[in-house]
Amino acid sequence: MKEQLKTLKPYQPGKQVEEVKKELGLEKIEKLASNENPFGCSPKAIKGMQKVFGELAIYPDGYATVLRKKISAHFHISEDQIIFGNGTDEIIHMISRAYLEPGLNTIMADLTFPQYKRNAVIDGAEVREVPLVHGRHDLDTMRSLIDENTKVIWLCNPNNPSGEYIRESELTAFLDTVPSDVLVVSDEAYYEYVTAEDYPQSLNLIQSYPNLIFTRTFSKAYGMAALRIGYGIANPELIRSLEAVREPFNASRLAQAAAAEALEDQEFIAKCAEKNNEGKQQYYDFCDDMGLACYPTQGNFILIDVGGSGEEAFKYLLSKGYIVRSGAALGYPKGIRITIGNKEQNDAIISHLRNYLT
Ligand SMILES: *Cc1c(COP(=O)(O)O)cnc(C)c1O
Repeated sequence: MKEQLKTLKPYQPGKQVEEVKKELGLEKIEKLASNENPFGCSPKAIKGMQKVFGELAIYPDGYATVLRKKISAHFHISEDQIIFGNGTDEIIHMISRAYLEPGLNTIMADLTFPQYKRNAVIDGAEVREVPLVHGRHDLDTMRSLIDENTKVIWLCNPNNPSGEYIRESELTAFLDTVPSDVLVVSDEAYYEYVTAEDYPQSLNLIQSYPNLIFTRTFSKAYGMAALRIGYGIANPELIRSLEAVREPFNASRLAQAAAAEALEDQEFIAKCAEKNNEGKQQYYDFCDDMGLACYPTQGNFILIDVGGSGEEAFKYLLSKGYIVRSGAALGYPKGIRITIGNKEQNDAIISHLRNYLT
């Protein structure tokens, strides 16, 4: 086994619904821990998937032709600017595998999505972590840590778990000073939920910055986390470098079929984003009312500072049948991260939290 693996703890998954039901003897459990879409996915996605039920014996199309054509038309980009992964997780894995090795270093925020660090450690690269400032990436400090051995910089935008985001002007100013042989990854898993007008349009930026790749996923707003499909968009040369390490059949036939149809239903996405905004407001009002600190969020989750132990608040909500994410597991012990649910779910969690805190 590689030496560096000894320092890694296996991913600590959020609690599974069935497990908690049994433990607590509860009838109904609501999981609002992993930022899944509370409204499920588009019925079109399910229909698309059903169409390929008869083809399960056949390997998926390794080029994802149909989905690729749809994404390329949707974004007005060429087909060789897209790479698909078994979730964004696998795109992160591919970037790490293609670019990181012992002797090189990689820069990321702290707190951020844990898969960047995990993959970098596995590939033996040095990890340089830069604490968030008010929940936001400290791009100046990140830039100051770049040296001749820096290969990849990870930006999580909006950032999980804080929900804060990098403004377009900040991003371009940053990219202007990053050497062109340093890859900059913009993880945009929550893109469809973003409402800020000064959020970067990465699609336009990849023209000017050939070292920029941005990733999107069908797991969050598209409501297809179970299917595991995400994609990266960048200039063709960068995409080719990742294609070299991609497994040939990494995106399943079911996922490709569902994603291709889901993309057609932008009305569903818009509706989910609108409901998410309403849910965000419920939580903002609650935090205001209770004097709790929380970060403004561009995602479908909110990180709330509960004042005391996040783990205790998590356990309390769990006892009421609501699974959220304990801050302890995220490196933010005073908080909990809650996935914004439907109105009833939000009301229920807010009312339980109110009882817990008063
Ligand atoms: C959920 C999440 C992902 C994972 O997406 P998959 O496509 O399901 O692998 C990636 N990045 C961030 C920041 C996330 O929160």
